[in-house]
Amino acid sequence: MDPLFSAETRRADLDAMAAAPVDVLVIGGGATGAGIARDAAMRGLRTALVEAADFGSGTSSRSTRLIHGGLRYLEHGWLRLVFEASRERGILLRIAPHLVRPVAFLFPVHAGGRIGRGRLAAGLWLYDLLSAFRNVHSHRMLSRRAVLRAEPRLRDRGLRGGGVYYDAWCDDARLVLANARAAHRGGALVASYAAVTGFEKAGGELRGAVVQDGVGGRGVTVHARAIVNATGPWSDAIRHLEDPDAAPLLRPTKGVHVAVPRHRIGNEGAITMTSPLDGRVMFVLPWGAVTIIGTTDTDFADDPATVTPVGSDVTYLLRSANAFFPDARLTAGDVIAAWAGLRPLLHAAEAGSTAAVPREHRIVESPAGLITIAGGKLTTYRAMAAELVDVVAARLHRIDGRPIAPRAPTATQPLPGGEVGDLELLVRELIKEGVPESVASHLVDRYGSEAIAVANLATRERALGAPLGPGTTTQRAEVVHQARREMALSVSDVMIRRTDLFRRDPRQGTEVTPVVAGLLAQELGWDAAREAESLAAYLAEVQRMRQALTPAPVS
Ligand SMILES: Cc1cc2nc3c(=O)[nH]c(=O)nc-3n(C[C@H](O)[C@H](O)[C@H](O)COP(=O)(O)OP(=O)(O)OC[C@H]3O[C@@H](n4cnc5c(N)ncnc54)[C@H](O)[C@@H]3O)c2cc1C
Repeated sequence: MDPLFSAETRRADLDAMAAAPVDVLVIGGGATGAGIARDAAMRGLRTALVEAADFGSGTSSRSTRLIHGGLRYLEHGWLRLVFEASRERGILLRIAPHLVRPVAFLFPVHAGGRIGRGRLAAGLWLYDLLSAFRNVHSHRMLSRRAVLRAEPRLRDRGLRGGGVYYDAWCDDARLVLANARAAHRGGALVASYAAVTGFEKAGGELRGAVVQDGVGGRGVTVHARAIVNATGPWSDAIRHLEDPDAAPLLRPTKGVHVAVPRHRIGNEGAITMTSPLDGRVMFVLPWGAVTIIGTTDTDFADDPATVTPVGSDVTYLLRSANAFFPDARLTAGDVIAAWAGLRPLLHAAEAGSTAAVPREHRIVESPAGLITIAGGKLTTYRAMAAELVDVVAARLHRIDGRPIAPRAPTATQPLPGGEVGDLELLVRELIKEGVPESVASHLVDRYGSEAIAVANLATRERALGAPLGPGTTTQRAEVVHQARREMALSVSDVMIRRTDLFRRDPRQGTEVTPVVAGLLAQELGWDAAREAESLAAYLAEVQRMRQALTPAPVS
């Protein structure tokens, strides 16, 4: 069983990082920072990871969730990125098979569309070539009739055929969490709700960072021989904290997704399409009973914490989807949830449209020694992490000549829950133990090999062997598991990033939030006031999202 990863380990880890210097302090617990902490810890470095809020609560829980080579990047000639991302897709499918699943995408071609049949066929061939023909399956081109057989509700007027290609889809927030846990398992000191608010320097060199404990309310100083800024859209803010004159590295863009009931749009599988409004590549993705439509891509220069969808984002997405599924006639009233994230894209003043801003990353070291990693993608986080830790290792070697492992086995060692060969077999084992089939599949999807531990919790404590409420498969035992082994510290942590009820449930799971709050209160030792506060914070978040969904006319 995996070690605890909880409020208690968090407190102990904050104490430990304040008590003795670390080799490397990683700021930011998104995909990039959690991946770096895992890599550094596995190379034997004394590592600390601090995240201002919950793991993945920044961009990394608001992505399209594709673990992909990036078909559309072919149009920009970013072949190296597609090659690297395709390799990473293969690795993540192996080390986290429960969180990263292969998916077939249908790309329909309509008359007058930006991409014709010939261009699509050439692009899909190149896409397979760049994954060295080791993708899940090779692409295939489809006739008009075959496309309509696969997706009967797709617009048939002007349909010329299409192509099917393969990529992967993941649970982004849980992938980040798995990396943070793996870092902890490898010996890293890890704390969420711990924000860096300042730096300490000596002789012009960075020596440490001031960390504000958002739960205990104390401030601690963490001394480190190397400090890494992996704060995604906040990267420039952290750089300014260290050097007010630092030039900006980023040009963040906002991306919005909406979830609608799947039966309303009627897609059978995942669709890649070019929006008839502006020709951008978009996705329609099935997710159980809901379909996700995304995304937009617009410049955003305000405080990253304030990014939110607005009516025009929602209208753009619904109009684009309606053009492909004309019977759907989606309106804002169909939207179950909407969310926005910020792509931490590198500044490229000459790039013009936001879609043409490169998705690659850069590593920059400030004169005082702050190592910033900016840009990149969820898909390539593991490779980015390895490259960044090479830079840290070189710095530490310069300081004291200590040899550091040149590589960590991050490509072969499974992430927590990924120690499973055959997911179907695991589902059958749980069913044999008496777990209902729908619950068994749900637990294996979410927890992989750890599904057994969650099921055992329910066996040991009978009160936990029930769903959170009628109409949901999510079990009470999951909340307890999340508090003990996934560092869930608030109702929002559970509802938004660990169970997805916020995005999948038409009422954002508000009927079951008192049960969640009650279970957390027991686990975390909250008094009634603390429990009410956490519940209210989640409901306020739901309210904010609903306000952003003010109906706008859709044609
Ligand atoms: C709409 C959208 C769709 C996308 N789709 C895809 C996709 O399908 N596939 C793909 O590969 N990529 C996709 N991306 C890109 C991908 O999501 C990002 O590149 C990636 O998640 C960035 O991770 P990160 O860790 O660098 O940043 P973040 O996830 O934002 O993490 C940075 C963290 O730093 C923390 N932080 C900030 N300030 C402080 C501080 N002072 N102290 C401590 N912590 C701090 C924040 O709280 C945050 O959690 C998408 C992005 C968007 C916006």
